[in-house]
Amino acid sequence: MSDTPENISLIEQLRTVVGSSYILTDEVKKQPYCKGFRFGSGHALAVIRPATLLEIWQALEACVAADVAIIMQAANTGLTGGSTPDGKYYDRPIVIISTMRIDSIQLIDNAKQIVGLAGSTLFGLEDRLAPYGREPHSVIGSSCIGASIVGGICNNSGGALVQRGPAYTELSIYAQIDEQGKLSLVNNLGINLGESPEEVLTNLQQQNYTEQDVKHSEKRASDNEYHERVRDIDAKTPSRFNNDGRRLFESSGCAGKLAVFAVRLDTFPVPEKHQVFYIGTNDPAVLAKIRRDMLSSFKSLPVSGEYLHRDCYDVSKKYGKDTFIVIDKFGSKYIPKLFGLKRYVDRIASNFKFLPSKLSDHMMQYFSYLWPNQLPKRMDAYRDQYEHHWILEMSNQGVDEARAYLNDTFKEQSGDYFECTQEEGDKAILHRFVAGGAIGRYHAMKSKELGAVMTIDVAFPRNEKDWFETLPAEIDDLFAAKFYYGHLFCHVMHQNYIVKKGVDAKALKEKILASFDARGAEYPAEHNVGHEYFAKDALKGFYKQLDPTNAFNPGIGKTSKCKHWNES
Ligand SMILES: Cc1cc2nc3c(=O)[nH]c(=O)nc-3n(C[C@H](O)[C@H](O)[C@H](O)COP(=O)(O)OP(=O)(O)OC[C@H]3O[C@@H](n4cnc5c(N)ncnc54)[C@H](O)[C@@H]3O)c2cc1C
Repeated sequence: MSDTPENISLIEQLRTVVGSSYILTDEVKKQPYCKGFRFGSGHALAVIRPATLLEIWQALEACVAADVAIIMQAANTGLTGGSTPDGKYYDRPIVIISTMRIDSIQLIDNAKQIVGLAGSTLFGLEDRLAPYGREPHSVIGSSCIGASIVGGICNNSGGALVQRGPAYTELSIYAQIDEQGKLSLVNNLGINLGESPEEVLTNLQQQNYTEQDVKHSEKRASDNEYHERVRDIDAKTPSRFNNDGRRLFESSGCAGKLAVFAVRLDTFPVPEKHQVFYIGTNDPAVLAKIRRDMLSSFKSLPVSGEYLHRDCYDVSKKYGKDTFIVIDKFGSKYIPKLFGLKRYVDRIASNFKFLPSKLSDHMMQYFSYLWPNQLPKRMDAYRDQYEHHWILEMSNQGVDEARAYLNDTFKEQSGDYFECTQEEGDKAILHRFVAGGAIGRYHAMKSKELGAVMTIDVAFPRNEKDWFETLPAEIDDLFAAKFYYGHLFCHVMHQNYIVKKGVDAKALKEKILASFDARGAEYPAEHNVGHEYFAKDALKGFYKQLDPTNAFNPGIGKTSKCKHWNES
């Protein structure tokens, strides 16, 4: 299919737009862009890596004229296959537009807001804001491996921050394809940038505008109501989830059904005071009580509260050690380079049958054994004593509130806590964030003995008290391992199961999801539907309204992959 005259002509046009070095048509070279981080893969006619916003626009014009499907891709850290093609069965060729070369971040109003261009990253944003004493809207597990600002908005990504909620803005600039198949540019950034797409996109890229061109309106540049929702602990619904129509707006939650050039977002002051508390208990009801007490009665909301079960602690300690050490010693900036190197090693190794698949994982795992224990002694002592671990981060007046509350609570409740030193706090949080990748490594290392991995990203109702899963024995017996971690204040849990060899993981997942339905839970909570979960009506309707011809990211949320949403 790739060598039809139409496709050859399109490839030539795209080559003219981005230059020969930035169009990939070789299967092996396209692979990192065609395969998801954890889920999904498929075929693309070409991958292009534009250098400017204008090049994106020109590439879109060529793709629309050639009537191909388009997948917008940022760092490709999405976990549900939403940034890559899905299998073979599309009615048109697909072009992937990778935006990561366009990474500039512009500051507005003395860094109170930012404009992030399509490939700018969350860790780039942390660095950019630090001199101004400000912080990003969002901190997610993949911030440290290069996730983008725009990918987060398009996914309504969640993450750790209790006060700020899902990534959300009503201020963005994007291209849309209408019912008649016409491409147009919509500038809702609230910045006067000119008229024609060429003028607007070049002015934006070159930051050719003044503070007078920036309008300040009622439009939201973050989910500034989330703090009220999360505090409502008796509500029967989850505080946030991807199918929630509340936070779907143009680029926010669009999952690639538009082509987003840039988003404008609020930033937040770095707190003057900051403290991490490490909590351990063997009774999940104790954590439920603390969650309810803090959300309902504390004057100051926690910054974050990251939960980790003991089994997850162990897998993260052993199989996340290399990632932990690289980030701890060299910083997040090295992680994308490391992933690039990893892909290179695996690509070379795939040519030699006698080498194990995922050779890079095996090599990095063995190297990590040479390094001494990376975790603080007090955390390891809690690991031996307690099954449930909760890393509580407080700021400003919340520090004293938490100190007094925890001191009183653990006089009566089972379990204990300690106040982390700066080093302990940083390591505790990093240990939690490497858990997701560590589970993948564990599975890669033991793939001969184990069945499939099943991952579930679930949001429990705010009033749920039995948040920790207890499975009936006949289901529990089918698992070789279970790993639980999550954002406990928001009741967003990542439940990862590895089934025993021979077990039908798909059927089992259906059973577990049905049990979540019965509890009023929603899924996915924050990883977005991708090609793994169904989009419910609100989300499906939103996608259809954004993209009436179904030209962008077709099939997302298990919807039609065909032109005009044709179901056949
Ligand atoms: C280790 C790890 C930890 C994670 N932790 C979290 C977490 O704590 N919370 C959380 O919510 N998620 C988490 N994730 C999931 C993922 O990182 C987030 O969804 C992230 O926001 C995706 O960003 P990205 O830059 O990789 O986007 P991509 O994966 O490249 O894209 C995400 C979606 O946005 C669309 N998109 C990207 N760019 C554009 C554009 N310019 N225009 C239109 N659409 C576009 C894509 O088509 C896709 O649908 C984690 C992932 C990993 C691997």
